[in-house]
Amino acid sequence: MGAERQHFELDAERVEAILAAGRGRAGSGEVSSIVARARDGEGLSCEEAATLWFSEIDHEALYHAARASLARRAVALETFSPLYMTNTCDAECRMCGMRRDNDALVRKTAPLEQVEGQLQTLKKRGMNAVALLTGEYRAERRGWAIDFVNQALRRTEQLDFGHVLINIGSLDPDELDALLDGISRHADGSIAPKITMCTFQETYSRDYYGRFMGQSDDNPRADYDRRLANFDRARDAGMRVANPGVLIGLNPDIAFEMTALILHTRHLLEAGMEVYLSVPRLRQTAGGLSPRGASDEEFIRLVSLLALAVPDGKLVLTTREPKEIQQKLVPICTVLSAGSASVTPYTEDGAQFPLETSQFEVIDQRPFEDILAEYAADGSEIVNFASPRSPA
Ligand code: SF4
Repeated sequence: MGAERQHFELDAERVEAILAAGRGRAGSGEVSSIVARARDGEGLSCEEAATLWFSEIDHEALYHAARASLARRAVALETFSPLYMTNTCDAECRMCGMRRDNDALVRKTAPLEQVEGQLQTLKKRGMNAVALLTGEYRAERRGWAIDFVNQALRRTEQLDFGHVLINIGSLDPDELDALLDGISRHADGSIAPKITMCTFQETYSRDYYGRFMGQSDDNPRADYDRRLANFDRARDAGMRVANPGVLIGLNPDIAFEMTALILHTRHLLEAGMEVYLSVPRLRQTAGGLSPRGASDEEFIRLVSLLALAVPDGKLVLTTREPKEIQQKLVPICTVLSAGSASVTPYTEDGAQFPLETSQFEVIDQRPFEDILAEYAADGSEIVNFASPRSPA
């Protein structure tokens, strides 16, 4: 499986030094030449990305630079649908509807047969990529979740899904082996189907991480360092695709989060992984008050800068965002995920979106066929989606 590489560690002082240097350069005359190079697809250093973040250049100018940069290479739009297998969780993340102490959430765990039925429904509807989601559990309950997801994962391989994302929290090496048990591997030991490990750090600030994810030892999500190294452990176990992310709105210092996410992404790319990046904004939850995490202008600025800074990364946008923001940002993103954040919600032609069983509110509740049809209207292929609906 190859030599083990050094696991990622975030040097917060280095991030602060990058931000200080970026702030210092933001008023200099070099801003337009940095934008011009990025528009030509040359990428941005972390310091250049910080410079542009703090500069007076308007978010629309950065957006158009990102569009021009992406127009230089053929980037097809990919998609996937989330499939929550349960909404139980042992963790206590303050911003999340699934936190264990949220009495407003109606708990539900789908039987495996129902999960399999949902996978078949998604396939029948032309969706060929799926994210399997559970909560995060204490060590004594993790075996149950890993076995549950392993069974579903095996089924996705039998059904020949083109991409499967796993979002079940941080795992130890023996747990990763159990998760991937029975899944085909290449001769070098790497996993054969495209399976992505998703563990968003949510915030790279230790301070904000502690405030939102908790600090007690019996909270499986509270260990910042264990989570930070999860992709490296997944790589050691044979996985080759990672999806780090930041929940925008936990830490008001968005420039810090952007810089840390770029550093993390570069580490994973250098380790030979394909990297998807997520920057969802905070949303409403049952029993919680989650304001929107950033203004539309800040959000467009952030997504544009990430598109310019890491042209090899794949930015993920979701239907948590309203239709207008999706339509604006899809041209500079690689992936639009569409579906419901409730447990086993899919029907033959749509989905249910009850907030009382959902991790968070989904703003755009149209069937994914309708959402994706808008982007396929010009005849472009959408990776991992082939609508069986006849053209009107
Ligand atoms: S964010 Fe994840 S780990 Fe935290 S409470 Fe929600 S489901 Fe659980």
